[in-house]
Amino acid sequence: MADYDYDLFVIGAGSGGVRAARVSAAYGAKVAVAEEHRVGGTCVIRGCVPKKLLVYGAHFAEDLADARRFGWKVPECAFDWPTLRDNVLAEVDRLNGIYINTLNNNNVEIINDTATVAGPHEVQLKSGRTMTARTILVATGAWPVIPSFPGAEHGITSNEVFHLDVLPKRVVIAGGGYIANEFAGIFHEFGAHVTLVNRSDQILRGYDEQIRDRLLQISMTKGIEFRFNANFEKVEKQEDGSLMVHVTNAEPIPADMLLFAIGRRPKTDGLGLETAGVALDDQGAIKVDGDSRSSCESIFAIGDVTNRVQLTPVAIREGQAFADTQFGGKPHRVDYSAIPSAVFSNPPMAGVGMTEAEARNTLGAVKVYTSDFRPMKNVLADRHERALYKMIVAAETEKVVGLHMIGPDAPEILQAAAVAVKAGLTKQDFDDTVALHPSMAEELVLLR
Ligand code: NDP
Repeated sequence: MADYDYDLFVIGAGSGGVRAARVSAAYGAKVAVAEEHRVGGTCVIRGCVPKKLLVYGAHFAEDLADARRFGWKVPECAFDWPTLRDNVLAEVDRLNGIYINTLNNNNVEIINDTATVAGPHEVQLKSGRTMTARTILVATGAWPVIPSFPGAEHGITSNEVFHLDVLPKRVVIAGGGYIANEFAGIFHEFGAHVTLVNRSDQILRGYDEQIRDRLLQISMTKGIEFRFNANFEKVEKQEDGSLMVHVTNAEPIPADMLLFAIGRRPKTDGLGLETAGVALDDQGAIKVDGDSRSSCESIFAIGDVTNRVQLTPVAIREGQAFADTQFGGKPHRVDYSAIPSAVFSNPPMAGVGMTEAEARNTLGAVKVYTSDFRPMKNVLADRHERALYKMIVAAETEKVVGLHMIGPDAPEILQAAAVAVKAGLTKQDFDDTVALHPSMAEELVLLR
């Protein structure tokens, strides 16, 4: 062990890398982590956390309007983007500081530099230094995909969207996935005219069809526009600085901002992985086994760079399992079954387990229970948005194999319900639980 500078060298201080680094160090390993941007990674610096804060900020538009129906005298309100932006960025700074402290407190050496792999046990810093490590962990995450067409350079990605100088009045969003639908909701609430352009004829492929159809219907009712089966042809910068976005199958769309949200690719380009014989898949993701070990014995990878499940809590679990297994003498593997997920659209949606289509394909006979209701708060607010909860049950065992929902607070409700699905409980177990009245969540135990 003394032959190496470090027991563990982690490349990338995002959610997964930080967890692996600090837990390994707590087990007594000598650990360094290199980060070229800011400690915290995508989720903390330019992803989940600032996005969720924008979602909260955006929702006040409807809350303030609804408050009037609840008797509050709300004066004319105006939204000030720089205030929210700066407060969110200050919160990001605070969290960045906490992450740095955590690493320092666990004696993890933080190296603010770009690191690349230079061999099975060797890492090269951009500034020139070469270091050795018994084990290397690649946790470099993923990076937004930018399409190639004339004028694409006028678009931005989720990396830049948190730093806008001024709030755009007309927003075009490319893609129909998580980021596209979340920012469509955010910018619409801020008062922008939003057009979402997707290459296929649907949004949120992979989510339960009925649930995403409900989001599409509610989004359209709110005034968000959709262009389906549309590909980008070109973007022209106008004299006034605005953009004209040309897509197939639709009229050109004038815009002040074009946001690309067409997926995130594992960040392996230029990482030097070939110097150690680390194999990649056709998406550029590092191929790993159940212990997150790559095709090179001494190099491991966790998180988005492996493209298993692009979700922060999964990366954190992979980092924990790696540290426990390699440095803690407590070998275990991540269980990828029944991972809950959510889209923080407006309203949000959340799901765990199989969609109805997946369940029918896999199990054959399934029973589907739905509750399509108007939350009581929406009734008094005279808001005509309906929530939809859907439970998929295996006909033979009565086990709940999928739970999908859209409506206010759906992610908060689903997290608790996911415990029951993960535990393999049956529809009868849900029915045997007394309803908590009045709540939206009670619909889950009243499904008929
Ligand atoms: P997604 O994978 O969610 O969606 C990508 C969208 O872009 C799809 O609508 C897809 O169309 C379209 N698309 C894909 N490739 C192209 C292309 N080459 N040209 C044009 N359109 C294309 O990607 P996001 O960027 O929204 O998010 C990346 C990942 O980050 C997510 O998969 C998720 O794992 C994670 N994330 C999670 C969040 C959460 O948990 N709430 C929030 C944000 C991100 P189609 O499918 O119709 O073919």
